[in-house]
Amino acid sequence: MQNMKHVEPVRLTANSRFRFRCYKGISCFTKCCNNIDIMLTPYDIIRLKNRLGISSGEFLNDYTYIELEEKSNYPFVYLRMKEESGRPCPFVSPEGCVIYDDRPANCRYYAVGQASLRKQDDKDSLPYTEEFYFLIKEPHCLGFQEDRPVTIAQWREEQGVDIYDDMNRGWKDLLFLRKTPGFQLDEKKQKAFYLACYDPDRFRRFIFESQFLNLFEVDAERLDRLRSDETALLQFGFDYARFILGIEETLKAKTASSGQK
Ligand code: SF4
Ligand code: SF4
Repeated sequence: MQNMKHVEPVRLTANSRFRFRCYKGISCFTKCCNNIDIMLTPYDIIRLKNRLGISSGEFLNDYTYIELEEKSNYPFVYLRMKEESGRPCPFVSPEGCVIYDDRPANCRYYAVGQASLRKQDDKDSLPYTEEFYFLIKEPHCLGFQEDRPVTIAQWREEQGVDIYDDMNRGWKDLLFLRKTPGFQLDEKKQKAFYLACYDPDRFRRFIFESQFLNLFEVDAERLDRLRSDETALLQFGFDYARFILGIEETLKAKTASSGQK
């Protein structure tokens, strides 16, 4: 969806104002749902697989493909377009998006783009994340010709992106590591990252049906949530990935005595 050629090189904040309106009936309706590459976030996958009533494994197999980032080897998941003229999205219809209430974060933001920068004021201060926005002005998108002023904050609210940003924050934090010079995921870390971030149903089986709970301490309350709450599972997945990638000791190994309980 995001072609850098059409990115307006102006940094916007939540209070920045632009003119835009997208509605059924505009002559470019659904043109942005063809011939695009949509990177999916972990929370997108949960929403979409639940919308379709299938497991995360089935969703990944039937609707997505993986791309490895060249330098870092991070796996990223993309929605697979239909193999027909114009590469339409599998969810687009003449009436619009058939999974609209569960559409991915990138579709919600469009034609706004969002970027995050990891910053540190000096070597003694803690790093923090700075988020900013930009406009993606593709020739087919006529929404910019509409006379409706809107701020980025209003756009975010209209599109319901807060929950997506909240749920995906831990994933974005994991991604900052790939900016470290020379950092590259080996195969084991790559598989763990993919499992924990993108395949929650298989990750849950990994927790409860492998040796995992013999090796790591997880308190009973959190374990209960992991059985039934997919968003808790997602956040635990990010913790697990932080541990496997060597970012933080987010998991506690069982000692010989604790393992005997
Ligand atoms: S998921 Fe929906 S909004 Fe996103 S490209 Fe497909 S049809 Fe369009
Ligand atoms: S105005 Fe832009 S975002 Fe809306 S349907 Fe047209 S191309 Fe898509």
